[in-house]
Amino acid sequence: MGTSVVLHAQQNKLERKIVKSVDQHTEASLGLLKKAVNINSGTMNFDGVKKVGELFKDELDKLGFQTELTSGESYGRAGHLIATRKGKKGPKLLLIGHLDTVFELDSPFQEYKMLNDSIMKGPGVSDMKGGDVIIILAMKALKDAGVLDDMNIEIIMTGDEEKSGDPIELSKKDLIEAAIRADIALGFENADGNSKTIVTSRRGSSDWKLTVNGNAAHSSQIFTDKVGVGAIYEASRILNEFYLQLSKEENLTFNPGFIIGGTTLEPNEELTGGRAFGKSNVVAQEVTVRGDIRAVSPEQLQKAQSIMNTIVSANYPKTNAQIIFGNDGYPPLASTDGNRILLEHYNKVSQDLGFGTITAVNPRNAGAADISFTSGHVDMAIDGLGLTGGADDHTINETGNLNHVSVQAKRAAVLIYRLVNFKQ
Ligand SMILES: [Zn+2]
Repeated sequence: MGTSVVLHAQQNKLERKIVKSVDQHTEASLGLLKKAVNINSGTMNFDGVKKVGELFKDELDKLGFQTELTSGESYGRAGHLIATRKGKKGPKLLLIGHLDTVFELDSPFQEYKMLNDSIMKGPGVSDMKGGDVIIILAMKALKDAGVLDDMNIEIIMTGDEEKSGDPIELSKKDLIEAAIRADIALGFENADGNSKTIVTSRRGSSDWKLTVNGNAAHSSQIFTDKVGVGAIYEASRILNEFYLQLSKEENLTFNPGFIIGGTTLEPNEELTGGRAFGKSNVVAQEVTVRGDIRAVSPEQLQKAQSIMNTIVSANYPKTNAQIIFGNDGYPPLASTDGNRILLEHYNKVSQDLGFGTITAVNPRNAGAADISFTSGHVDMAIDGLGLTGGADDHTINETGNLNHVSVQAKRAAVLIYRLVNFKQ
């Protein structure tokens, strides 16, 4: 009985220190956020991304992290900020942020504006410079409480979350390697605009390309044994079967977003546009369709792909079709037991701090994010620990609620403290 009471009292004392330190540093952190938001860091503005990287690097240097701004030359981006601390205690933690935003230099959205005392409208305030600042504030508080030195923490803030570099294996290499080293991953993206939810599961997203061929012939001969039905009928059969057989599958979506068909096709390289030639009296020879697919687990993705393959190979007369699934997308972050346990810890922390209950967000409302690349490499992962705003991120109406900066930093810092110091 004695030791657990002592432990509990000490825990409360240190947690109170952490909370107090967050309050002391909040003002300065809001200053840091304002500074960061006003530096344009659209993914393709490498100078800006690096500048934001430098800004956060300085902060982490002061906290005794070993920091590095990596080169993104090999995958055509600005590179990442990586910061590490090698302590001896507890599980290895990976904290994930990103430096870039969707607002490039030509965007009309370049600087923040306070809409009232607490709501800041600004490029990247919630997605996710707010989350980056929350990471740094939480680290400061752990340092002040004297518990940071023991910890084994790696922070990675990627420079190309919004528009991944190519090849993606090189772009995500540092992140995946860090995930392999880590036991627990915490993502600081904004969740779904609600500070009472976090992400335990995100859907993965990847592309597919469907190519269909038929026999070109005079239209008067369509449906004959020799000519068959042509590529356009076959493509419409396939897409309709996708819909009929798979659209009711929970949490699975697939969207044909581009189609081009006729006698001769000249699509552009990215399959986002192009030219087609065809005549109403000629049976269509070719169709190309491009779409995405989003699934909540690798199993669901595989099952859907296998059904789609079966549909694609059951051709109408005198046609053939082929579907290729891209492997350069975001993997799904499946809802594992570990992730659910981590949510419970976070929920408990939030309640103990007086900030209420936290639940998991519906995976359909959580877009793909860097945390997905930790899938299968860590025992536990959650995301959405960053700054809540409205639901308008990626638009020029993106906002963040600055009152939540300290709340989120307290939740994160106390969670990390407990994860490292108490057997789970
Ligand atoms: Zn983001």
